[in-house]
Amino acid sequence: METDYDVIVAGGGLTGTIAAQAISYYSKQNLRILSVDRNPETLPGRKGGAGWTCGDACSKEAVDFMTERIKIPWTRPEIEHDVKGVMAFSPDKETAIPFDGAGYMLNRQKLPEIQNERTKKMGVEFNFEVALSGLIYDGQQVVGVQGTDNKTKQPYKKTAKLVVDAMGITSKLRNGLQNSTKVEKEIDRTDVETTGRHIMYFEPGKEDLSEFDPDYCIIHLDQDIAPGGYGWVFPKADNKVNIGLGVEKTHLDKRNERLGKKDNVGSLMKEYLERNPVLRNPKLSEDEMDQHNNSGISSVSVRRQNDCMVSGGYMLVGDSAWMPKPIDAGGIGPALIAGTIIGNNVAQSIEANDVSEASLWQYNIDFIKEYGYKTAGLELFRRLVQTMTNEQISYGMKHFLGNLDVEAISKGEHPDFSGLGKLGMIIRGAMNKTVASGLKYTSGQNQWLVEHYNNYPKDPSGFDDWNKKLHKTLDESFVKIASYAP
Ligand SMILES: Cc1cc2nc3c(=O)[nH]c(=O)nc-3n(C[C@H](O)[C@H](O)[C@H](O)COP(=O)(O)OP(=O)(O)OC[C@H]3O[C@@H](n4cnc5c(N)ncnc54)[C@H](O)[C@@H]3O)c2cc1C
Repeated sequence: METDYDVIVAGGGLTGTIAAQAISYYSKQNLRILSVDRNPETLPGRKGGAGWTCGDACSKEAVDFMTERIKIPWTRPEIEHDVKGVMAFSPDKETAIPFDGAGYMLNRQKLPEIQNERTKKMGVEFNFEVALSGLIYDGQQVVGVQGTDNKTKQPYKKTAKLVVDAMGITSKLRNGLQNSTKVEKEIDRTDVETTGRHIMYFEPGKEDLSEFDPDYCIIHLDQDIAPGGYGWVFPKADNKVNIGLGVEKTHLDKRNERLGKKDNVGSLMKEYLERNPVLRNPKLSEDEMDQHNNSGISSVSVRRQNDCMVSGGYMLVGDSAWMPKPIDAGGIGPALIAGTIIGNNVAQSIEANDVSEASLWQYNIDFIKEYGYKTAGLELFRRLVQTMTNEQISYGMKHFLGNLDVEAISKGEHPDFSGLGKLGMIIRGAMNKTVASGLKYTSGQNQWLVEHYNNYPKDPSGFDDWNKKLHKTLDESFVKIASYAP
């Protein structure tokens, strides 16, 4: 069948443009690539009406991963500020653990403008102001996308050998996918965090490096401030900040009941800002490169990536594949990694003239090898931390984290708590013994899960059996973890 393009990248956000560049790079600019997005050309990559709502932080390691492979450098002004790492504070502020290493604060409004210019120079075509609603099929094979061209209000259809779905967490293409029983279409409500943030200037008030640090991204774990999630204060300059928080709805409801309050994300954000003694007289940024992006609320998933990310003629990448890291909702790092490697997988399959599910399968394996092996374990860890009280989190961070655990966390891996509760180790209080048991349990399950992901089936025929075993373990783990809740 003759198609309009070789590849359509649906969604021209952060991940979509990286994927388009990587496909162009690995195919030596030999493929006809089209990027389709609902935004006007003047506001590229915007998540929604509120802007490019994000904490804006990403690790240098992930940017280097992309730059080394597809030779795309990120510099200023898309990088707004350098940081030495992320520092997570316990609720009592007595313990702080560093993770993720050196990194950058991005300008999410500026970045896609620069990305798009670069992507165009790499031979990628763009269609803007097109709202996609579904896929086009030829039998069991995806052969294009359809929707509405908002410029003309006419139906829009384009065909391609392969569609890469980079349409974000709410992707309509994934939700309506018809040619796979392996790709998951929907996500559990409790695996989604509602998050909001402001980008602001302030006058420096009291000096307190646990509340604002120009060199570190700060995370506050606190079940009263951000139930089931966390609050963050990320520096964009000595007097500029990205401040926000994320909550999980059922944990917010429980917290409101416990405290007799009726808070929502908006009111929690207001309180979080007001309680910060360093940020005096904060004002939303009116900078030209923040003007469409200084305040907003959006959703982010905190679970493992989709159990299968390919079907005939179709691949998922970025938030549409639920790639953000389950413990901190960092989605830029995995987007950089997956967006880069998908370029190689796409180029190889199209060169081999085979875009069947079996041919695209290698992408599942390559992503798991690079990143995805650890996410199911981290999903369990996240669920366990969500069950804990502030006292339990503070005690656990103070007494149970050794140097090796901190190192594992800094690599984004599940720490090994299998030695917890060994003879001679004194754990004070029944509640803290529960924490120790919980951590020991998720550690053990994590080891099994990492091993299971290392044995991800080499081709689609082994998937059902592998997936059944995965879900049996996850279902049992979810029940067990819920039993640790006080
Ligand atoms: C408040 C908040 C804070 C965060 N903080 C961080 C952080 O500090 N660090 C970090 O690493 N990650 C963070 N994340 C996650 C990060 O923002 C995402 O992982 C990242 O934006 C994913 O990029 P994406 O391109 O996959 O999806 P998106 O950014 O959602 O892009 C999807 C694109 O597809 C387009 N699109 C969607 N539907 C259609 C349609 N029907 N038709 C046509 N086009 C469509 C959209 O307009 C958009 O351009 C945060 C998320 C939130 C919500």
